[in-house]
Amino acid sequence: MSRLMNAFEATKRFFREAADQLDLSPRIERLLVTPQREVRVEVPLRRDDGRIDTFIGFRIQHDNARGPMKGGLRYHPAVDDDEVRSLASLMTWKTAVVDLPYGGAKGGVSCDPSTFSALELERLTRKFTDRIHEIIGPDRDIPAPDMNTNAQVMAWIMDQYSKYHGFSPAVVTGKPVDFHGSLGREAATGKGVFLATREALTDAGREMKGTTFVVQGFGNVGSFASKFFHEAGGHVVAVSDVNGGIRNPEGLDIPALIDHVQRTRTVVDFPGVDRISNEELLATECDVLVPAALDRVITLENAGDLRTGMVVEAANGPVDPEGDKILREREITVLPDILANAGGVTVSYFEWVQNIQQFSWPEEKINDELETIMVRAYRSVRRIAKEKSLPLRTAAFILGIGRVGKATTTRGI
Ligand code: NAD
Repeated sequence: MSRLMNAFEATKRFFREAADQLDLSPRIERLLVTPQREVRVEVPLRRDDGRIDTFIGFRIQHDNARGPMKGGLRYHPAVDDDEVRSLASLMTWKTAVVDLPYGGAKGGVSCDPSTFSALELERLTRKFTDRIHEIIGPDRDIPAPDMNTNAQVMAWIMDQYSKYHGFSPAVVTGKPVDFHGSLGREAATGKGVFLATREALTDAGREMKGTTFVVQGFGNVGSFASKFFHEAGGHVVAVSDVNGGIRNPEGLDIPALIDHVQRTRTVVDFPGVDRISNEELLATECDVLVPAALDRVITLENAGDLRTGMVVEAANGPVDPEGDKILREREITVLPDILANAGGVTVSYFEWVQNIQQFSWPEEKINDELETIMVRAYRSVRRIAKEKSLPLRTAAFILGIGRVGKATTTRGI
């Protein structure tokens, strides 16, 4: 039953819990929940064999009280208005939690890009850009990569947008480093996950060294987070991807595993480990469990089976409200997505700033600024949680909603 809760409903539940604490009037609450603009477009694609296929694309702009809207673009069969609405709203609270001068948006095309050739992917991206170019822009709404979109896709969007509006590198972030992208962007979300986890462990009187981690998903976020845990002396004892999981109670050799995945595209045939399923992975004993793949993987059905002290939401929305309730009852700390995975949008912001300044920052500056922002955000959330005796998730929403609400009333409607 909990698997059926739709994504936007789940986000609204978390929002309401914080809104109740803030005593928001129902009118302001409705204003903050309702997306500002929802655009649904038809994206025709000429296939390589001459056929015409049609896909549906979305760009949902949730809020811009604090600045231009910001959020990823996903190419996936599960993309629909409900999912995009939920992710757009999470972006609004996330950019506010880390105090970036942005609002929130999200977009996507409902398609299976694994069936596309490179040329088809480019044509689809350019056509989608044709359909939304009037509502995005460096001062309006700045897309970025998400599932199945990457630096190359961002470069095509920038090029297509520039045909209408003149040279505009700041219209998207997550571009290739040698084409107006930023150093440090690729590792940024995993690095942010590592920094937030380090702060939470320190609060709990622990350190990285000797801490055991289980990571679901070994893509961009999961692999970089694992790398940083490993480098700091943590033991990553199990990881998985869409094909299944692997476990070694002594700790996996993460650099060797990253090499293996680069060669074979999957974790599963890594030598010298036990094979496990994704269900077994989630129930593997560890100090910190890091879901870094899909949304709604920890629910009413399996939250009671987890054997961990802390869940760090590296993915967006991996714990649903019913799963969250069980984790609270079991006193398992949850580091919420709008804090834990905000490192990506933070370095996207640095990329946008560099594009506007037409100046490149060295990687050390990027990493130092990222650390300052993540640590500050964690401590602000932690302070609210302590003062009000609330879970970190509710505290993070309180911080985000408070900032967006203040900007909304200051600007006026
Ligand atoms: P990715 O496509 O690089 O990697 C996803 C990983 O999840 C892959 O290893 C894939 O095999 C695995 N996976 C897919 N289905 C699975 C399943 N059923 N069971 C187990 N593993 C499965 O994606 P990513 O960029 O690492 O994003 C992962 C999550 O983090 C998403 O929720 C995304 O929205 C979120 N996120 C990403 C960023 C970013 O900067 N990339 C920023 C913030 C949040």
